[in-house]
Amino acid sequence: MGGIMLKKDKSKKLMDLAGRVTPGGVNSPVRAFKSVGGTPIFIDRGEGAYLYDVDGNKYLDFCSSWGPLILGHADPDVVAAVKTQVERGMTFGATTELEYQLADFIVSQIDAVESIRFVSSGTEAVMSVIRTARGFTGRDLILKFEGCYHGHSDHLLVQAGSGLATFGQPSSAGVPEAITSQTAVLPLDDEEALQEFFDHHGDKLAAAIIEGIPANNGLLIQRHDYMRLLRALTEKHGALLILDEVITGFRVGMGGAAAYYGIHPDLLTYGKIIGGGMPVGAFGGRSDVMNVLSPLGPVYQAGTLSGNPVAMVAGLTTLAKLANGRIQAELEEKNRRFVSRITSRLTNSTFNIAGIASIFWLVFQRDLPRDAKSIDRDGIAHYNRMHDKILEQGLYLPPSGYEVCFISAAQTDDMLDDAADILVATIKQEAHQWV
Ligand SMILES: *Cc1c(COP(=O)(O)O)cnc(C)c1O
Repeated sequence: MGGIMLKKDKSKKLMDLAGRVTPGGVNSPVRAFKSVGGTPIFIDRGEGAYLYDVDGNKYLDFCSSWGPLILGHADPDVVAAVKTQVERGMTFGATTELEYQLADFIVSQIDAVESIRFVSSGTEAVMSVIRTARGFTGRDLILKFEGCYHGHSDHLLVQAGSGLATFGQPSSAGVPEAITSQTAVLPLDDEEALQEFFDHHGDKLAAAIIEGIPANNGLLIQRHDYMRLLRALTEKHGALLILDEVITGFRVGMGGAAAYYGIHPDLLTYGKIIGGGMPVGAFGGRSDVMNVLSPLGPVYQAGTLSGNPVAMVAGLTTLAKLANGRIQAELEEKNRRFVSRITSRLTNSTFNIAGIASIFWLVFQRDLPRDAKSIDRDGIAHYNRMHDKILEQGLYLPPSGYEVCFISAAQTDDMLDDAADILVATIKQEAHQWV
């Protein structure tokens, strides 16, 4: 095992060429494999559960393009719908019935969404929803949580300040402190910190934003009581609660994390699955809040390709297949089986797996963390060292230990059983080198 060296000649060559014309050779940093080392593979095509690279290697895909591909690659129904629409025109810059249909579908499915607007990415959805919340409340202050990712708009590229500072510091060069000073950052899973923050700043807060189930910095599943306290405190202080369901929307059942926790947010953001693999984001919620948007109200927001018809049919076709919740339930069952097949055979190690719905996260620590500080950095390093060994055996895991994995409907129990066996054997074989 592990002896087969994959052929990576073409990927290596392309990476070299791409690096000359694109920073780091990539259009999104984690694709560069910097955390895990090794050569990033260049993808040739995806089919069902598998990715094929330019050197002819085949991988069982656990990345799912970071979440959108819950049906697997090139789902025949989605492909057919997209082809039909492409032949009818790819963009009009005017309204189509498809936008109404996708909006109406989401409004009919999600209690908290009365009105929704489409954009082209999750980042854009979050950027727009923050402006909407500020415009509606007339307040500037935003609250976010350490370990939650909401895309890369300036006011959310924030890390906790040092010591007791509540207000954030930029987490990226190029973001002015004047902007991040309007964003407070709290740890997850900490009722006391939440209560204290609202006691001092609640009445100045425009909105708190939190990931449905934080899944961008490990999988940090929150307790129901904590989420309900956040809902209660925002409401008490006249601040809006924004649930970022870009990952969890239509993956954690049809109702997403809002239904999972039994909370009713004021605003929600979507992306990933609702575009069926095309670039889409959306934000929606209370219609009295959404109606501050132009042309009805004073908050400006727009987009040349917003509500793009090709993206709308991809989303509509995907969501229609998910609508009765059967696929999500089957994926949850597959995930449970997969996780227990691994954990039951690694009981004496420090390895564990966090799992919910069709999401799992491989961790090299016994206790599953619920906040960012409790993530064991050595454990992340173990994952990163193991990544190439796993790739060599035909499993495409996300190229960073902080990233979660997704199971898709194209993966069968047999495929998952084989993948579980590979993971168990590799972890057993490698573990002694890590202590
Ligand atoms: C992916 C993600 C985003 C950003 O979406 P992009 O389409 O990558 O801009 C925002 N929030 C959450 C929770 C995400 O997972």
